[in-house]
Amino acid sequence: MTLAVPTDDFDCQSCGACCSYSEDWPRFSLETDEELDRIPTEYVSADLGGMRCEDNRCSALDGKLGIHVGCKIYAVRPIVCRTCMPGDDECLMARHKLSQKVLL
Ligand code: SF4
Ligand code: SF4
Repeated sequence: MTLAVPTDDFDCQSCGACCSYSEDWPRFSLETDEELDRIPTEYVSADLGGMRCEDNRCSALDGKLGIHVGCKIYAVRPIVCRTCMPGDDECLMARHKLSQKVLL
């Protein structure tokens, strides 16, 4: 089987692993109230503390994991989503988990 996420290609638009890593990941932190108000409520978790996820996948993630994805709220996404950089430790962890899932 072909890995959905190539190990040497950090193209976020063909990945999405960090956006489907854990419901505990896209949580709000230092956003201002104004910034949070810009995120449509349909994508916000019931406890208002982060993004709403389904099976660890952020509800604002569009598309097919490992093929082509996009963030529906890219311009107003939370801080944690802005700080995760392609190739950093969190990215590698998320991609590894996704690769394992695809292989199972
Ligand atoms: S930051 Fe890493 S895990 Fe997240 S979408 Fe980009 S390549 Fe994938
Ligand atoms: S808000 Fe956008 S960038 Fe952040 S986890 Fe959800 S889909 Fe990914």
